[in-house]
Amino acid sequence: MHANDLYQLADSIIAGNQLDADQALTLAKLPDHDLPELFAVASRVRQHFFGDRIALCSIVNAKSGLCAEDCAFCAQSSFHATGAVTYPLLPQATLLEGAQAAAANGSACYGIVTSGTGISSGEELARICAVVRQLAADGSVAPGASLGILDQQSLLALKEAGLVTYHHNLETARSYFPQICTTHAYEDDVATVRLAKQAGLRVCCGGLFGLGESMEQRIELALTLRELQVDSVPINFLDPVAGTPLATMQQLIPRTCLQIIALYRLLLPDCHITVCGGRQSNLRELQSWIFLAGASGVMTGDYLTKGGRRPEDDQRLIADLGLTVTKEFVR
Ligand code: SF4
Repeated sequence: MHANDLYQLADSIIAGNQLDADQALTLAKLPDHDLPELFAVASRVRQHFFGDRIALCSIVNAKSGLCAEDCAFCAQSSFHATGAVTYPLLPQATLLEGAQAAAANGSACYGIVTSGTGISSGEELARICAVVRQLAADGSVAPGASLGILDQQSLLALKEAGLVTYHHNLETARSYFPQICTTHAYEDDVATVRLAKQAGLRVCCGGLFGLGESMEQRIELALTLRELQVDSVPINFLDPVAGTPLATMQQLIPRTCLQIIALYRLLLPDCHITVCGGRQSNLRELQSWIFLAGASGVMTGDYLTKGGRRPEDDQRLIADLGLTVTKEFVR
C-alpha cells in the first residue's frame, strides 16, 4: 500500500467511514518499512478525535487471588500455582487511600478491581458502592470498577452510587476464547458489557494480546468491541506468569504491539484507547511510541500482580512528546 493511500484512508476514517476486516488485514500485513507511515496515520486519527491530550488511569487490586475461573494467562486463577498473593476485599479506608494517590498522580480514572467470577451482591457490593459514593462526591478522580460478571441490579446499584466506568475485558476473540478460558462462556462476558451499557455506565472493554491469537483474531475482537459500542478500550500485552499454562509463551515484539495499537485506532477511531499491562516488557525501548501509534491513554503505576511504571516517568514521557495529561475523557 502506498503512503498516499494510507493518508487517504485516514481522511476517510476521519470523515466517518469504517475500516472493514479486509482493509484491516491488509494493514496488518504491511512490511516493516511501511510501519512508520501506519503509525503516522493512526496518530493523525488520534489527533483528530483527542487532540494533544492523554488520559492516565490507575487501578487497585481490591481483592486478590483464589479465582474460580481458569483463564490461562492469569496469576490469580486457583487452577494455577503462581504464588500470587491472596486476600479478601480491602477495607473502605484502603480503597479510598488508593483513590487519593491516583488523583494526586494525575489519573482521570481509579479502577477498583476484584478477582473472581463476580462479587457478592451483599457485603462486597455494599462496600464498593460506599467507596464509589465518596469518590463521586469528592470529584477528584472518576470512580471505575472491574468486578467480573455482574447482573443488572448490581450494575444499576453501582451507577446509582456514582460509578462512571465499568470495566470488563473480553480478553480475546470469540473464536480463540475456548483456548484461554473454559470455565465460563464468552457470551457471559458480552452480556455483562451489554448490561453495563444499558445501566448507563461508560464501558471500558478490551483485551490481552500475545496469547497465541492470530492477527485475524485481533481484528475479530476489535470488530466485536465496535459492535458493542464500548467507550474505551484497554490494550494489554501478555507478560507471562510462572505457573500458568502460558508461562513459556514467547512475548510479542515491540513493532507488533505498536501495529496492534494502530489497527485498533483505525478500527475504533473515536474510542479512548489505553495501553495497560505488559507495556514495559513487551514494548521495551519503544514505550514512548504508543501515542504516536494511536493510543490516547496509559495505565500508570502498579498493575494487579506486577509492578508498573512510576507516574512521574509517564508524565515526563507525555510532556516530552508535546502532549498534555487530561482528565476530560473520563466523565
Ligand atoms: S482474569 Fe479474572 S476471571 Fe480470569 S482467572 Fe483471572 S481473576 Fe479470574
